[in-house]
Amino acid sequence: MATTKFKNAGNATTNPVENKVRKEIKIKVGPAGIARIVFLNSDGTEAHTAKQFVNLSESDNFVDGKIVPNVYRAGSEIRLKVLFNKPGTYPFMVKCEPLNGNAQYTPGELARNDRFAYQKEQKSYTTGSDGSLVLPLEDFFIGAAGKDQYVFRATDTSGLTVSTGNLEVHRLIYYVELKMRSLTTCAPSLARVEEVYAKHHIKLLKLPALEMAFMPNIGPNDVDKFQAEARKAYSKSLAVGKQPHVVAIAYTGHLAVKRENFRVLQSVVVGPGSAPALITIAAQPDALTLTSEPYFLWYALGPSESWFVSARFIKTGGSKADVINIPREKCTPVPSSSASPQAAYVVQIDVSALPHPTGTIELVVNIVDRMRAGISFSGGNLICVCTKAWWSTVDAKMQNEVIVHELGHKIGMAADGSGKLPDKTGSWYDDAKGHRGDHCFHGLSATQTRYDSDADLNLSKCVMYGAANGLSDFCVNCAPAVRKVDLSDGWEPF
Ligand SMILES: [Zn+2]
Ligand SMILES: [Zn+2]
Repeated sequence: MATTKFKNAGNATTNPVENKVRKEIKIKVGPAGIARIVFLNSDGTEAHTAKQFVNLSESDNFVDGKIVPNVYRAGSEIRLKVLFNKPGTYPFMVKCEPLNGNAQYTPGELARNDRFAYQKEQKSYTTGSDGSLVLPLEDFFIGAAGKDQYVFRATDTSGLTVSTGNLEVHRLIYYVELKMRSLTTCAPSLARVEEVYAKHHIKLLKLPALEMAFMPNIGPNDVDKFQAEARKAYSKSLAVGKQPHVVAIAYTGHLAVKRENFRVLQSVVVGPGSAPALITIAAQPDALTLTSEPYFLWYALGPSESWFVSARFIKTGGSKADVINIPREKCTPVPSSSASPQAAYVVQIDVSALPHPTGTIELVVNIVDRMRAGISFSGGNLICVCTKAWWSTVDAKMQNEVIVHELGHKIGMAADGSGKLPDKTGSWYDDAKGHRGDHCFHGLSATQTRYDSDADLNLSKCVMYGAANGLSDFCVNCAPAVRKVDLSDGWEPF
């Protein structure tokens, strides 16, 4: 009868009177044993499982109560507590065990960067007199790789083992967008960028965007001014409080590079009644192909910058004394299409006022050497993406692709195996084989001497290829490096 009543004692429907029976039950007292091992929260409560933001430093700056619930979820060192079932000092051992499927670091990687390793050693402890112990913080640490999982097991002297639930490794990078005033072409959303990084186990968390001063183009000579303007906005943003784990993404108009004083010579017939001379801005035809790509004039890419340098005419057989300057008003760029009225590689010159029948025009102009899609400025946390190229809007899809690429550079892609980076990927190349910086030739042969032809662009299969190729994801060679990379240093503010 008593047995039946005891079985029911925990039932909510039990008549309270029957509970008196419990007093008659003799609870058999067992030996002291290990009860549990748990993750600690910063308020002293216990957690069975944990999402650990391994790249962050243990600072309240990164705690939002949701994604990072408390400061103990930031950092690579794990706060563990072991409890026995009764007070007293008891010896026990603790071990960190990686789960199957974790990233596998090579000996070279482990030698280069301490943050790639987890604590493999089993450690011995004794509880305090209350039968519990908070383990020293530095004793158990985990590796840098995203989506890795670990459990921590504690064993007492009787051989009884208890385990935590899974600890899952996450990485978090904040970003702040700096948008030039009156620039209407910025991508409305970086959803694709966030999606790609999430796929590779890096959470991107957006901070409120800010406005910065407008500049029509950022060329190599404009970088200091651009950074100064960007810094004015950045310094007022929430990003400052997220350093060093925050990247600034500035949207610009063009990212064109100027080539000055490009000289074109063309034979012409001039004089009253002559048709205007049409001069194509191109290098002298290549001796083998007899063709050469035209260059676009440096047009509407800066308030004080001009495409026109000089135009002169010399009659056939003439000497220096016969040179006639042609004024700028006589020279008119011819748009390459009505859709892009500012894109011109032909100059029409009114020659009707010239006195000589035949001769040569020398036209000297500033031209667009190249247009860049984005830039990852070295030595800081700034990248920029152009929203215009060749005088047309760059669509949001491509802006997302470019930001994945430039942010890829920020996290060390394409990894070259130097310093704290993961090993060099199987499809890594650098400036010596084309483009600028470390890139990925996946999709192309490993034996090529260069990777920057138009054909290469079409065959490339990674977002870290050296030119915008319409792709937004990391390839099979780069993906493991993105997963493994150690982001704990973050970036200095630009
Ligand atoms: Zn690049
Ligand atoms: Zn790649």
